[in-house]
Amino acid sequence: MHIEIHNHESPTPITEIDRIRNNPGFAVHATDHMISATWSDGEWTAAKLVPFANLSLDPRAMALHYGQSVFEGLKAIGRDDGEVALFRPDMNARRLQVSAERFAMPALPIGTFLEACELLVETEQDWIPTARGSSLYLRPILFATEPFLGVRPAKEYQLLVLASPAAPYFNASLQSITVGVLDEYTRASFGGTGAIKCAGNYAASYRAKQITHDEMGCDEVLWLDAATRTYVEELGGMNVMFVERNRDITRVITPRLDGTILPGITRASLLDLAPVLGFEVIERDIYLDELRARAGSGEITEAFACGTAAVVAPIERIRQRQADDIVFNGGAVGEITTRLFDELVAIQRGESAHFSEWRHVVEAARSRPLI
Ligand SMILES: *Cc1c(COP(=O)(O)O)cnc(C)c1O
Repeated sequence: MHIEIHNHESPTPITEIDRIRNNPGFAVHATDHMISATWSDGEWTAAKLVPFANLSLDPRAMALHYGQSVFEGLKAIGRDDGEVALFRPDMNARRLQVSAERFAMPALPIGTFLEACELLVETEQDWIPTARGSSLYLRPILFATEPFLGVRPAKEYQLLVLASPAAPYFNASLQSITVGVLDEYTRASFGGTGAIKCAGNYAASYRAKQITHDEMGCDEVLWLDAATRTYVEELGGMNVMFVERNRDITRVITPRLDGTILPGITRASLLDLAPVLGFEVIERDIYLDELRARAGSGEITEAFACGTAAVVAPIERIRQRQADDIVFNGGAVGEITTRLFDELVAIQRGESAHFSEWRHVVEAARSRPLI
């Protein structure tokens, strides 16, 4: 699709961009431009690169009322030598289609998704931080704009792709988190929306996050399956993995994708990467009772969460009301977690011999090193 270019008339001065790039926070600053495209009468029209600005929405825009809103999150990673690469953007493009289909929304062609991301990265190349672990975070979002209060799929949609410079999600390179298990709420059930990236999944998880944070001192919720509340699924925005060790065998285990778990691209990448580093991989049900017993006996040695934003976040302990914490690796960051993190970051930066095809180099974009 042809994308029309409308450049910002007074873009942010380079000195100000440098000040932001130096200390970007996580996705707090918007860059000067965004991609916008609309869908109506059965087709995509008017794909444009436009100055970043407020939207004008009819108050009846259906996304606001009925929640037809799906999104993605991916990173453009810049190096000191100027090379910029998107990490597996084809997977995000495909997943956005799957999410849209579940919500009876139109699919954005994969080629258009890639073109839009590339054009935005090229345009905003001055904004790309180069410090290790930092990136230009891209947020594609697709939502219903048709003004109508009736209940049915909308007939008009808007796609936006936003960009924001991002420091590493956690301050230090690997910072352990504590996750809490709750009995009173669940995240996703069979046939529901757990496997898609939709706005509502996040809204539905906040109350549990508040409780585990305020009452239990946890960083995130660890969700159990809705039907039996006995096996672990994932965190609110990250998948979860454990390391099992017995004699010479090191095994990375993670819940299988049963339709209630978001199929994370970081998860998929780690499952491909682990065997290359000599670890076995198994996707299976992982019961909370098993974790309690086998973390205690030293057979399950590490736990970590994984997702685009943080890449890997070691889980120090699982907390549950009226029970002792399940502690992994004595609370220290594990060796296997660290190796997987280091190798995946190296792949993303093009410093590894493995999986170079996961990097989608944006030819025209050059990141500037910070002086
Ligand atoms: C986005 C997301 C993930 C992680 O997916 P990545 O593709 O690795 O970023 C995991 N769980 C949920 C619920 C998510 O929304």
